[in-house]
Amino acid sequence: MLVILHPDLDVSSSEYKDAISYLDSLPNIEHRLHTVKGAQQTLTEIYLIGETEKLSQEDIESLPAVERVIRISEEYRILGRHKDEQRTTRFTYNGVEFGQHNLHIFAGLCAVDNEKHVNIMLTALEKEGLQCTRMGAYKPRTNPYSFQGHGKGCLPYVFEDAGKHGIKVIAMEITHESHIEEIDSCLEACGRPTGVMLQVGTRNTQNFELLKAIGRQSTYPVLLKRGFGITLNESLNAAEYLASEGNSNVIFCLRGMKTSFAAPHRNMVDFTHVPVVHRLTRMPVCIDPSHSVGSREQSPDGILDVFNATAQGVIAGANMILVDFHPRPEKALVDGPQALHMDELPLFLEDIRIARQAYEQRLKLFNPA
Ligand code: PEP
Ligand code: MN
Repeated sequence: MLVILHPDLDVSSSEYKDAISYLDSLPNIEHRLHTVKGAQQTLTEIYLIGETEKLSQEDIESLPAVERVIRISEEYRILGRHKDEQRTTRFTYNGVEFGQHNLHIFAGLCAVDNEKHVNIMLTALEKEGLQCTRMGAYKPRTNPYSFQGHGKGCLPYVFEDAGKHGIKVIAMEITHESHIEEIDSCLEACGRPTGVMLQVGTRNTQNFELLKAIGRQSTYPVLLKRGFGITLNESLNAAEYLASEGNSNVIFCLRGMKTSFAAPHRNMVDFTHVPVVHRLTRMPVCIDPSHSVGSREQSPDGILDVFNATAQGVIAGANMILVDFHPRPEKALVDGPQALHMDELPLFLEDIRIARQAYEQRLKLFNPA
């Protein structure tokens, strides 16, 4: 059961204290507080866990501190969509709004290799009016002898240059909780010229201690990749770990499933799950066509598989695209073969515009005014 308190209710008020002592008095019920800080107001939600079937919704709703009470299912308590609820699917970070209603493009380097390539990438994004990017500093690699990313060493030039090019959000994978502090102190030292969305890679989807550590902070939103060899339900529960620790600013990323049946693609593209995640949860949904397809193959119609996969996700309502570009893919230290070329950026954006417009037309078709 979910108890939503009146917005901006003071936690030192007598209404608040009365509500908490009432909930404390309920037998076999535990409660967990969750605060959602929005741009306009702060919402306090209380999750009741235990024998909630016997509780009276009306009694709790009659407490002066309480706005409303919702009966929720056991699964995905915080991030899930429950019957008859109108909780928001949106959050704003560093001036950029994320939600199930809009679309952001995070084109960038899979792995930061040098300052020059970062600058070429950021210059191209600014020219196209984009305000988000991806930049890998901490790379989880299959082979221990492969390049593992420049780590904190590259952060100062990435953040400073991103700020100069008007970038508001950088998706950056972290593989250990200590990386949160490295990112935070570097951003602070440079005067916070840009923002970071912490990315949890597919190899860490069920690294529960990492999820808990990321969930305990709410400075940075999180991009959680679907685990490549687990069920959708298991990956959505991983997202709920973040929220249960306090951070519900989570975007869920589809990136393909590992199976030999995916060949010749690197992973089996799973973008038909975009609307499924929309209906099961309130999370915005990202697609990663680069790691799904894993190559620059194209069909005889002249369209790259990465473009086709992107269009499939966008026409199904995707809210974010994470995509690899590189100024010199043959020199890239990670995932060069799947990177799009800089001169393909305008084409890629136009193709996305077409697919998004088709999605919006479909919305009108199925929801006549
Ligand atoms: C990445 O986005 O760079 C990455 C490593 O992706 P994934 O975790 O999906 O393999
Ligand atoms: Mn990669």
